[in-house]
Amino acid sequence: MIRETGFSLKKYNTFGVDVKTDVFIEFTSLAELKDIFENELLNKNQNFLVLGEGSNILFTKNFNGYVLKNSIKGVKIISEDKDSVEIKAGAGEHWDDLVNYCVEQNYWGIENLSLIPGTVGAAPIQNIGAYGAELKDVLVAVEGLSVAELKEMRISREEAKLAYRNSIFKNELKNKFIITHVILQLNKKGKPNLSYSGLSNYFKNTPVDKIDIGQIRKAVIEIRRSKLPDPAQLGNAGSFFKNPVVSDSIYNKLKSKYSNIVAFPVGDNRWKIPAGWLIENAGLKGIKIGDAGTYEKQALVIVNYGKSTGKEILELAKLIQKTVKEKFNIELEPEVNII
Ligand SMILES: Cc1cc2nc3c(=O)[nH]c(=O)nc-3n(C[C@H](O)[C@H](O)[C@H](O)COP(=O)(O)OP(=O)(O)OC[C@H]3O[C@@H](n4cnc5c(N)ncnc54)[C@H](O)[C@@H]3O)c2cc1C
Repeated sequence: MIRETGFSLKKYNTFGVDVKTDVFIEFTSLAELKDIFENELLNKNQNFLVLGEGSNILFTKNFNGYVLKNSIKGVKIISEDKDSVEIKAGAGEHWDDLVNYCVEQNYWGIENLSLIPGTVGAAPIQNIGAYGAELKDVLVAVEGLSVAELKEMRISREEAKLAYRNSIFKNELKNKFIITHVILQLNKKGKPNLSYSGLSNYFKNTPVDKIDIGQIRKAVIEIRRSKLPDPAQLGNAGSFFKNPVVSDSIYNKLKSKYSNIVAFPVGDNRWKIPAGWLIENAGLKGIKIGDAGTYEKQALVIVNYGKSTGKEILELAKLIQKTVKEKFNIELEPEVNII
């Protein structure tokens, strides 16, 4: 177990923001995690934050308390039959390593989620999703530590209330439950999910039955690399805001005013509007506050052009929210966890 004090988190958040935490502890097992709570946190009633790879976090100031870095590793098959396989992975595994392993084994279900940064344990927190797939399509359950009782618990997919970039872990169980393992069910006889137009376009000249799982992963990686900045080159946390969902009547009003508006039906007479479209059409693509700016190829991504502070990034995010609200009367909700 690694334990440091006055520790810089610059390398532990993909925005590359330079803040410090009072104490940083890296744990590699449930037993170590329990030990931290029993011997350090509970009797001192300390503030804590569980950290994966910091790819969905904006630190706006030094962290006054304990940052607990999850490094629980291991991937194993816990059951299988001729059609499917159940895999249990340690929460500290790198998500894309797990995807790569599953693709190599021909286990279908998470190939469209290739190259999403972060850990396996953080994937259920916001029900990661991309290219027509979401974690909830394959999640069976999570295991972890209930902080109040220091007891190991299992939470099923249904109990986890996974929804669009949301789950019970961001709400009722925030700071009350730490995920140590994730269990997924994958398909041995899957077929390509080309519901996302970018992917179906990519394969427009290939018959579906000729597309294998490795080709899907390759396509997703290529498309993602062409659109999103690599945090190793340019600090960012992916989409900063969720795509707002509005009623039919609001959408129709907007459509009559902005004929080029983009929107996708999500059922129940509701429409999802790309937040990137709203930001761009509010004239904010490419703007900057200090070293914080919106990404030139995708306005939904806020980037750190060098030495931006978390405060500047937050200031820019607030300016975007205010401008979009004034122009379209739509509230943008951050997807990134602001600390
Ligand atoms: C370039 C880029 C592209 C991205 N693209 C996508 C995308 O396509 N789709 C998508 O959904 N997301 C995307 N993201 C966001 C991010 O990759 C995911 O949210 C990812 O799951 C975060 O993982 P992490 O380990 O970095 O979590 P962190 O940022 O470390 O933590 C995120 C939150 O989860 C909590 N947490 C972390 N681990 C645990 C745990 N074990 N138990 C309890 N709480 C925990 C933290 O306290 C924090 O509140 C992108 C980010 C970047 C930088």
